[in-house]
Amino acid sequence: MTRPDSSRSATTRLVMKFGGTSMGDLERIRRAARIVAAEVSAGKKVAVVVSAMAGKTNELVAWTDGAGPAAAGLPLSDDEYDVVVASGEQVTSGLLAATLRNMGFNARSWMGWQVPIITDDAHARARIVDIPGEKLGAAVDSGEIAIVPGFQGVTTDGKITTLGRGGSDTSAVAVAAALGAPCDIYTDVDGVYTTDPRIESRARRLAKVSYEEMLEMASLGAKVLQTRSVELAMAKQVPVRVLSSFIEPDANGVMPDKGGTLICDEEEIVEKRIVSGVTMSRDEARITLLGLSDRVDAPADVFTRLAEANVNVDMIVQSQSRTAGTVNLTFTTGRRDAVRAAELMTASQAQLGFEEIRIDEDVAKVSVVGVGMRSHAGVAQLMFRALADKGVKFQAISTSEIKISVLIDAAYAELAVRALHSAYGLDAV
Ligand code: ADP
Ligand code: ASP
Ligand code: MG
Repeated sequence: MTRPDSSRSATTRLVMKFGGTSMGDLERIRRAARIVAAEVSAGKKVAVVVSAMAGKTNELVAWTDGAGPAAAGLPLSDDEYDVVVASGEQVTSGLLAATLRNMGFNARSWMGWQVPIITDDAHARARIVDIPGEKLGAAVDSGEIAIVPGFQGVTTDGKITTLGRGGSDTSAVAVAAALGAPCDIYTDVDGVYTTDPRIESRARRLAKVSYEEMLEMASLGAKVLQTRSVELAMAKQVPVRVLSSFIEPDANGVMPDKGGTLICDEEEIVEKRIVSGVTMSRDEARITLLGLSDRVDAPADVFTRLAEANVNVDMIVQSQSRTAGTVNLTFTTGRRDAVRAAELMTASQAQLGFEEIRIDEDVAKVSVVGVGMRSHAGVAQLMFRALADKGVKFQAISTSEIKISVLIDAAYAELAVRALHSAYGLDAV
């Protein structure tokens, strides 16, 4: 989807990305500028992708909620939502470019439409379709530091788009792919941990993690990277490092050892683990159709209706009901889709033939992820034992080759994460 610019040797090019906290105020922007300056002084040809200041995108989203049609209970059209929420990144890219110039560097901001970062027209959740890398690559090779606002793009007919929340990670990886460069993601933690260090203080930093594991972890709730950025890095073979922006070059402008986490191919990882990480997501809702007809094609009917309405279903469980000739069918969706899914089911209650519908949003999904599961038995058994020991009941299960997820009562989510982290031997000693 992106076209690498291979006109120059790409080995010295580098894409650096700074997240919201790292762009949080002018002092933090100056610190980011010093980190960029250290790379430039060490000979790198740098493009920087920035997020809006922490909290700014939430504020902009709230404004769009309050404006015009939303205030009247209608959603603001997504194209105008994009015009508003994309502005946070425009501010930080200009400020970082100005800061670097004040430090004596040649820096310039490149808006999404100037690069251009071309996306489809799915406003508010657009996908990048192309980044012609030649112009940006030439600027970077000439010694200019190019500052690109993350999160934003432009359609072929010139309308501003945004890539979905957390999308600056994807912008950074896409720019790196277009420039044939590696991508360093600077954030407020110094790498990818075995679980969110804000939930479990004994979480350990992973020196390396495979694309595949990171993809599962991100999609199951480890929001340190946007899922799509990992998908893209894997497809384009972009080496990604996650690093802390809370570091400083020394008096000579030299960076200390950065540690961090490298996201790379599985073959590059020597230390093999069965489970690499534990994740948690509260963006879940459980819907149960009680007393659904036990007709053989009833579930097919239910899921066809959901699929036609673009509702993404995750976990599914069918169980016996007390009434003869019926079953209970439970499935989960993301919270955003839950109300729509329930409305859809209720609207077809007569055709589907169920007695009652229940929605529960007080649920969380806790998952363990690791490529070692492919070749080890007993991983699921350990999970159920650890949860049972804490008295945590599970309501649904789903598995893939490298993950097991359970749906539980949201009140137990953090307890379950800590119990599993310890049960799989991930706690720092
Ligand atoms: P940024 O604004 O830099 O994009 P984010 O807030 O999106 O930063 O992502 C960083 C946060 O991700 C961390 O502060 C941490 O709480 C959270 N996080 C969740 N899971 C993990 C994990 N497994 N490893 C590291 N951080 C994680
Ligand atoms: N500022 C956007 C957000 O908060 C994009 C990002 O930071 O990645 O979602
Ligand atoms: Mg982020």
